[in-house]
Amino acid sequence: MLNSTQEVISSYVVQHKGDDTMMKEDYREIIIEGRILPVNLELWRAWTGLRFVNGEEHHGPAYLLGSDTPYDGARVCSCDLCLSHAKPQFKSN
Ligand SMILES: [Zn+2]
Repeated sequence: MLNSTQEVISSYVVQHKGDDTMMKEDYREIIIEGRILPVNLELWRAWTGLRFVNGEEHHGPAYLLGSDTPYDGARVCSCDLCLSHAKPQFKSN
């Protein structure tokens, strides 16, 4: 039985075929609940957790799902690239 997160994600999961279509576009994956899942570009751009392109870790800005608006909320990775579009977190004194 799928949990709610997996139900939402399932519509974005893609099946990569082992033919030339793979060469035409990047192979994009995300890590969800400890598993690597191949997904389409739309979800991948919006993913705030760890992401891979062609098997390599990718760091950079995330966007609101289905838009070009940068996502400025919390990110799983805290490297400079991933946080470059995140809102600064201010600590109270
Ligand atoms: Zn990062």
